Amino acid sequence: MPGAVPLAVEQQRRKGIYVTPEQRKKISIVAPFYNEGESVDYFYKALCPVFSQVSEMDFEVVCIDDGSCDDTLKKLISIAERDPRFYIIELSRNFGKEAALTAGIDAATGDSVIPIDADLQDPPELIPQMINEWSKGAEVVLARRSDRSSDSYLKRKTAETFYRFHNRFSSIQIPDNVGDFRLMDRIVVDALKQLPEQHRFMKGLFAWVGFKTVTLDYVRNTRVAGATKFSGWKLWNFALEGITSFSAAPLKFWSYVGGFGALATFIYAIIIISRTLIHGVDIPGYASLLVAVLFLGSLQLISVGMLGEYIGRIYMETKNRPLYLIRKRYGAKQ
Ligand code: UDP
Ligand code: MG
Repeated sequence: MPGAVPLAVEQQRRKGIYVTPEQRKKISIVAPFYNEGESVDYFYKALCPVFSQVSEMDFEVVCIDDGSCDDTLKKLISIAERDPRFYIIELSRNFGKEAALTAGIDAATGDSVIPIDADLQDPPELIPQMINEWSKGAEVVLARRSDRSSDSYLKRKTAETFYRFHNRFSSIQIPDNVGDFRLMDRIVVDALKQLPEQHRFMKGLFAWVGFKTVTLDYVRNTRVAGATKFSGWKLWNFALEGITSFSAAPLKFWSYVGGFGALATFIYAIIIISRTLIHGVDIPGYASLLVAVLFLGSLQLISVGMLGEYIGRIYMETKNRPLYLIRKRYGAKQ
């Protein structure tokens, strides 16, 4: 019968939720993969229920292969061949999670973007709730880990100390226990893309852009397969990155140490001079001299090292190299 409308569309129209295909919103899910061959299939299986649950919106999944040396890329390509929602970006080498995420966010075309870890530590079941908050007007929907017992004790403690230290010394407050998993409206994503820095501490950049934010709590799962890519040393560097990217406090700190040191030395000098004038020349003093010299020497080394951290970053920024290089793109959009 000409002009007949499908039953589902008619039902949606009656409920007032029908939108034409052009009005349908699109959600981009961005996932970085680095040697996640074992997680790929789990990841796909976990996302499928989300697609059907939020059937009134379209999805695209931007997967970034961050220079994996296992079969991650092969598996991703086979998914993209089956499912047109999947779009794969292969980077030319391992650029690190932050650069991989940036590549994905740059390529995402949705009305909102959700970065998510490929190892399912960020639960995709939360996505429908995030989209719901977004539909109600939030521009950023944060997912906060209410329980981190899946992480080791040491990791939890060091993370906690990092956030406390960072937020104390930086004017930008990074919310506690919040990772990269969040929903961002297009307006936020466009703001983020304007930030030109090479050193991309994503959590800090996300916090810097601001916007209307709603927070949801979730329980952090353990990895579905494979092992973490962040060793203790990498995490330490990551923490340094975070602090030096958003705060100059460590630089200023040394001026105060220097100031107090100078004051203490001045007082001590007065004491020694008056003692010498009153009691005459005093030979002992070798130990205190050595302690003072060594102590000040090490302070100087630390402060020069601190300067080096910042100068190194300035040096890297001035090179203005691209953040990532793409070898090839696979999937419907190419
Ligand atoms: N990842 C990446 N490039 C890297 C390291 C990690 O794309 O150089 C990805 C990794 O595949 C995962 C996410 O970043 O999807 C989080 O990494 P991981 O689970 O190892 O970190 P953790 O959860 O232990 O902090
Ligand atoms: Mg993980």
